[in-house]
Amino acid sequence: MNFKNTIKESSYLKLDKDFYTLNKPIPLDKPYFVAISQSAAQTLELDSNTLKRDSFVSFLNGESLLEEHKPFSMAYAGHQFGHYNPWLGDGRAHNLGQINAWQLQLKGSGETLYSRSADGRAALRSCIREFLMSEAMHHLGIPTTRALGVIGSQTEILRNKIENAAIVLRFSKSWVRFGTFEYFYYAKEYAKLEMLAEYVIEESYPHLKDDANRFYKMFCEVVQKTANLIAKWQAIGFCHGVINSDNMSIDGVTLDYGPFAMLDDFNYNYVCNHTDRVGRYSYGEQPNISYWNLAMLAKALSPLVSKEKTQKVLDDFGAYIYPSAYIDIMREKLGLFEKFEDDVELIRELVGALQDAYVDYTLFFRTLSHYDSNRENLYDIAMEPVAIHNWLELYDLRLTKEQRSADKRKETMLGANPKYVLKNYMLEEAINLANRGDFSMVEKLLFIASHPYDELEEYEEYAKETPEIYKNIGLSCSS
Ligand code: AMP
Ligand code: MG
Repeated sequence: MNFKNTIKESSYLKLDKDFYTLNKPIPLDKPYFVAISQSAAQTLELDSNTLKRDSFVSFLNGESLLEEHKPFSMAYAGHQFGHYNPWLGDGRAHNLGQINAWQLQLKGSGETLYSRSADGRAALRSCIREFLMSEAMHHLGIPTTRALGVIGSQTEILRNKIENAAIVLRFSKSWVRFGTFEYFYYAKEYAKLEMLAEYVIEESYPHLKDDANRFYKMFCEVVQKTANLIAKWQAIGFCHGVINSDNMSIDGVTLDYGPFAMLDDFNYNYVCNHTDRVGRYSYGEQPNISYWNLAMLAKALSPLVSKEKTQKVLDDFGAYIYPSAYIDIMREKLGLFEKFEDDVELIRELVGALQDAYVDYTLFFRTLSHYDSNRENLYDIAMEPVAIHNWLELYDLRLTKEQRSADKRKETMLGANPKYVLKNYMLEEAINLANRGDFSMVEKLLFIASHPYDELEEYEEYAKETPEIYKNIGLSCSS
């Protein structure tokens, strides 16, 4: 299979010219290979043997595009930290077409019409972060855009210091954002808004195509998908960092990896993005802010669906759609097969206990997966074991109501509670080496990220709690 010939023109180009601009990637100087995900290559049905490094590098560098690929950048708007910005768009991303239903996109591939005086580039560190984390999320079972690989270069860019530019090739079934709808709504381009909704239905919600209430039902499904996604983030301990409405996917996938983090010690109020002074996007606020973004989407859809109808769905999101999605996942993490109403209380108590215990979130659940009434291992990992002790009293009682065996419980929990997640300190280590031309740690983390639920004896150190000096570091938006 030839890599470039399998790419078809993107379905997005069927839309009106106001939706995008055609423009070409601008190649980087002296590009070189950094990493490729074989799993992503399989998803794209690329034969990895034919993905020779040279052609992979020149493809990511935009040097081997065919005329018919018609690279383009998408227009969108969005609420950034609560303020509406009417003019965003792919400032540094070029869509290259699609393989099957996967829309390919280069990020860091140079200026576009939407660059707004920024350089259109992405630093090697941020490409490595997006590449590794999106692949990790995929293997954790969390809906996400994917990434095929990364190239580096000698092109210098200015961030907080001079850095080298890179390109990541990412792909998704859809790159439409809540902000894409806002772009047309605030411009009062309602015919185009409707065109966009029809496109999204055709691509992401095709079963609604002939339904008279398709716009309303699309909104209902976006709300449900968003609830499922955010519940999964909360349960796995993922903090996105910048949940602006332009970073919310109409397809309910994790989108635009920036200053994200996996929780170290559980902290409900943790803010991973250090420019987020008020904690708008703190871990604990993620469900609320998603509701807020859904409300912004409802507003943008108001020429197509009445506000009364969307408000009812928004109310349901808060009342039961999100809570039940979260509680169901937490039950699985706790190995609970039966459903009781007061499980909500058990889970609320757990969140409080984790907050008080100063315990690594991932390690806690993995250790709990091996729980057999002997509590020592759980006490050992917490700085304040009393909080854990008090909660285990409730948990022990709750387990007596379960019909299934302890073995079955353990099996479920080991499949629901990862042993390995990519913490920021691990990514930092990989990036520091990569900046010196050593990509071995990128490869190692990709391997670990691809086996989050397995026991990998040689990588035991990455299943431990985060070293004290690296806990809860804040990251900048600049990437
Ligand atoms: P982000 O914070 O990465 O979601 O970016 C917000 C907006 O700024 C998006 O429209 C990006 O495409 C754009 N953007 C971010 N960084 C750059 C850059 N270096 N050059 C051009 N546009 C950028
Ligand atoms: Mg973005």
